[in-house]
Amino acid sequence: MLNNVKKEFTCLLCGSSALVFYDNLKDDLFGVPGSWGIVRCKSQKCGFAWLVPEPDKSQIQSFYVNYYTHEKGNNKKIELKNVFEKIFYRIAKILYSLFRRLLLINLERKNLEYMFLRKRKGKVLEIGCGNGERLYKLKNAGFYVEGIEIDEKAMSVAKDKYNLRIHKGDVRELNIPSNSFDFIIMNHVLEHVFEPVKFLKECKRIIKKGGQIIITTPNFDSFSHKYFNIHWRGLEPPRHLYLYNTKSIDILCKRAGISKYKIWTSTGKTEFIVRDSIVLKKKEKNLDRFSLKDIIQIWYLQIKFRLLNLFKKDMGDEIVLIAEK
Ligand SMILES: [Zn+2]
Repeated sequence: MLNNVKKEFTCLLCGSSALVFYDNLKDDLFGVPGSWGIVRCKSQKCGFAWLVPEPDKSQIQSFYVNYYTHEKGNNKKIELKNVFEKIFYRIAKILYSLFRRLLLINLERKNLEYMFLRKRKGKVLEIGCGNGERLYKLKNAGFYVEGIEIDEKAMSVAKDKYNLRIHKGDVRELNIPSNSFDFIIMNHVLEHVFEPVKFLKECKRIIKKGGQIIITTPNFDSFSHKYFNIHWRGLEPPRHLYLYNTKSIDILCKRAGISKYKIWTSTGKTEFIVRDSIVLKKKEKNLDRFSLKDIIQIWYLQIKFRLLNLFKKDMGDEIVLIAEK
């Protein structure tokens, strides 16, 4: 697919040269026709990755036709063949939930769910708020909340079911007043956003002095990516335009004029990334059920990556960025 296209690329973030990392990727999640590649910056200090050919802004909307923002769970059933498998499954499940508590995975998940805002107060703007579930929880926890969403279906749920104030469109076109929110939160949205430097500058303009932008995004240098390669859930061509690691996120912050920030990686939701990656792998073989082996693999990798993350700090499955104005 890239044969007829240029083979030399320049990093959009740091200006170093970049190489093709993957070629001929398909949209196995929502079936947008076409094939894409991913190019990666060669610099050891960067490693930013992006989708090629770069879609046109006007084209991007068409990638979301069958897409309902972050629909929860999936319909895959677990297939337990006999009574022994059933017993084994039950015992393993108890052990797994014990490990999850011991390794503070549950706690980490809660933090991610609330975008690290638990026990705080203020005005929150969620960009890419989907059906508004998180905002509704934050509202009930005492926050003033507003959302931005591009998906009509998701937006109407947020409005009708949760009675939330939601704006439609791109934050850069909504003229939201400067210094008007304490927090902007974005859960797995940054990778969908074109011109991320401009985007982050706009977020900075909107938050108050001392306010925070809290972002989570897939980690290109993660354990799960290394493990699943082209089946890694985080790739999601053609909707994921840019893929970050801790170094390229750092460069992004600097280029957006942000000087006070914290970046780390998390393995709190590894289970779901692994599960979805297995689904993508199964799709290739037209399998639609999880076997006991799959479930054990999901649980095993959640625990393994959580433990490895203690030593390899930059390889957690998602990046967390908290930037301050
Ligand atoms: Zn670079």
